Amino acid sequence: MTPLQNLRQDLIGAGIAIVDDPERLAKLSGDYYHFSPVLTPFLAPKRADLAVFPTSEAEVLAIAQRCVQHRVPVTVRGSGTGNYGQCVPLQGGLILDTSGLQRILDLENGTAVVEPGVKLGTLERAAQGQGWELRMYPSTVRSATVGGFVAGGSGGIGSVTWGQLRDRGNLRSVRLVTLEAEPQILTLTGDDVQAVNHAYGTNGILTALAIALAPATPWQETVVAFENFADAAALGWALAQSDGIAPKVGFGVCAPHP
Ligand SMILES: Cc1cc2nc3c(=O)[nH]c(=O)nc-3n(C[C@H](O)[C@H](O)[C@H](O)COP(=O)(O)OP(=O)(O)OC[C@H]3O[C@@H](n4cnc5c(N)ncnc54)[C@H](O)[C@@H]3O)c2cc1C
Repeated sequence: MTPLQNLRQDLIGAGIAIVDDPERLAKLSGDYYHFSPVLTPFLAPKRADLAVFPTSEAEVLAIAQRCVQHRVPVTVRGSGTGNYGQCVPLQGGLILDTSGLQRILDLENGTAVVEPGVKLGTLERAAQGQGWELRMYPSTVRSATVGGFVAGGSGGIGSVTWGQLRDRGNLRSVRLVTLEAEPQILTLTGDDVQAVNHAYGTNGILTALAIALAPATPWQETVVAFENFADAAALGWALAQSDGIAPKVGFGVCAPHP
């Protein structure tokens, strides 16, 4: 039997549900790389052979152990909103989809502890219910997951105040399952979190994350139109530098005159 057949048999034997329907696998094998005409011809044909949807860290560990044993590549997937092919299975193998790991474990004292598949928008609503909000989120906030944002994103709305995800203090701690000869569950805190921050799931599968929140603010949106981009950027810069004004985001979009 091939390594893949052995893995499939082992997973089924362990009671872990697998998906191998070609249509679903095609969907699970892509992200927003198709924004790029350069990446599309390389990534469009790539397909996983199987997908799994674990619902607990114990299940993630069991899957990791079997993939290591049979030497089948693992690609971790959040919501697949990454826009340069970060969750495309380049060598086939197994997709580990985190959508079943969606418990908010703790939400106290300005820190949220969550499983990786929690949607950022869901967490934002839960945090706001307790007087807190996310420090930053990508424009894909409604669909992207916390795990995918930390492993594949960088910053976004809120970064004008709180910096990037990689800035000290934004990501407090993580738990992960490694994919070494004997997969382990590790907890990283302090600067050690940087080993997995923005690492695209290449050195482990995040199973829990503690992220810092900000006090909730009733933000107001204002749109100002400018004749040229330089003026728009100058206002954005001035606002970002004004200590007495709390900014959430400053966007400059310059449309050419018809
Ligand atoms: C229109 C658009 C706007 C965007 N705007 C922003 C923005 O403002 N800021 C920004 O930073 N990004 C932005 N992005 C990129 C992307 O949406 C974000 O990075 C998002 O947070 C990814 O989340 P996801 O759940 O979709 O992750 P996925 O795309 O599923 O995964 C992203 C990466 O993380 C890995 N991963 C996922 N879950 C885990 C896990 N549990 N353990 C280990 N690795 C894991 C995947 O393997 C992959 O490498 C944008 C994308 C689009 C299409």
